[in-house]
Amino acid sequence: MDNKIFLYNTLSNRKEEFNSESSEVGLYTCGPTVYNFAHIGNLRTYIFEDLLKRTLSYFDYPVKHVMNITDVGHLVGDMDMGEDKMESGALREGRSAWDIASFYTEAFKSDLQHLNIIEPNIYCRATDHINEQIALIARLEEKGFTYKTSDGIYFNTALIKDYNKLSHLPLEELQEGARVEKNLEKKNSTDFALWKFSPVGSNRQMEWDSPWGIGFPGWHIECSAMSLRYLSGQLDIHCGGVDHINIHHTNEIAQSEAATGEKFFNYWLHGAFLIVPGGKKMAKSSGDFLTLENTFISQDIDPLAYRFLLLQGHYRKPMEWRPDSALNALSGLESLRRKITELKSETSGEGRLIDSFVSRFRAALADDLNIPQALALVQELLKSDEEANDRLKTILNFDAVLGLGLAHISRDDLSLGSLPDDIKKLLTARNSARDSKDWSESDRLRDEIRSRGYLVEDTKDGMKISKA
Ligand code: AMP
Ligand code: ZN
Repeated sequence: MDNKIFLYNTLSNRKEEFNSESSEVGLYTCGPTVYNFAHIGNLRTYIFEDLLKRTLSYFDYPVKHVMNITDVGHLVGDMDMGEDKMESGALREGRSAWDIASFYTEAFKSDLQHLNIIEPNIYCRATDHINEQIALIARLEEKGFTYKTSDGIYFNTALIKDYNKLSHLPLEELQEGARVEKNLEKKNSTDFALWKFSPVGSNRQMEWDSPWGIGFPGWHIECSAMSLRYLSGQLDIHCGGVDHINIHHTNEIAQSEAATGEKFFNYWLHGAFLIVPGGKKMAKSSGDFLTLENTFISQDIDPLAYRFLLLQGHYRKPMEWRPDSALNALSGLESLRRKITELKSETSGEGRLIDSFVSRFRAALADDLNIPQALALVQELLKSDEEANDRLKTILNFDAVLGLGLAHISRDDLSLGSLPDDIKKLLTARNSARDSKDWSESDRLRDEIRSRGYLVEDTKDGMKISKA
């Protein structure tokens, strides 16, 4: 089978055929700043990266995935001004910055689990790699790329010829953007901190000794230091959200290439934002701070519905979040699960992969991860008149990429065949009530079914019915 995958590379601004430099694809994805819960916008980016990773595996590329955990140095302003997000999180909650970091790291991992996102092979914390960061800064100093100000060691971006090669923006525009946060001691507005000194007269909770004085690393240096440490020789793909293009990733490239003299990552992929009505990106600071917990879990809405929703949009197109998005997504996912369960009840054997569908599925994925098209094939398959065993086998094969956990819906969950006719009828009526989001009618029917001795439960793997 054709093994080519085409991905949109921000660096070249076009779709390119993907080629790996080594026997195992090196994938680095910028991870969370663990000073608060992730919002569902952040999670959109992690799902895009999961789909990319699953696609690479589906095409038989082994992947080594590294994700950093930013637990120091990311300041409230992205340009090295303002408070450290970790220290301000600690102040907000009256806990230590270390406690905050470990609490929100665990919360993040639990979000990934709820969304069926495959964990990276390596999680690396910035605070566990201070030495690597200091060594990288020292290398840059040796080569003359740094200078000192009263508050830190800075990288001189004017020494980089192609500083704008990722953003493709005129230099003046990058400089204009960077001027938002004034720092009169910087030589160029785009220069950024590699090491910041602890403020005189006050103690930070997180600080380390360094050749330049006590302080903490700047935000960008951690990703360079850790990706070079774990993916040296396999710098294939680096990802993040589009907001990382102009500052964070631009600076990662500048400092890494200045230090090593070699190209830093071949493919740069960026996920578009989850936006709020009106077009603004969803942010932690925007009025409603929507988390997986408050939007899905505490509402008894299976969080996989969010994954299902995101599968319906292309990763490079902004997606708008509306108040009814969660319930709509749930209804779509449940309807799919029902069809799969029904299909399971028709099957009787192993089945074969249906080649024509598999090759269309691969073609959709290979075209810069056209997941919406890939998902549409599942619906097409469900309606097709191919053998039930083969349809199921093929859909479950697709689910290795889609990640909806379809294999786990057991056939016994909906053994309609053995149920009395009146219960079957009530169940069908309840399913259509749910399809049209008539929740009160669906609840009423559940009670009715219960009064006739059967218990209906809506679980993460679909509807379950058992004797009460
Ligand atoms: P942070 O925790 O702020 O460092 O962000 C974690 C990831 O979420 C980064 O890759 C960001 O680019 C991404 N991100 C931030 N806001 C959004 C959004 N509204 N939609 C999608 N991704 C986002
Ligand atoms: Zn990063």
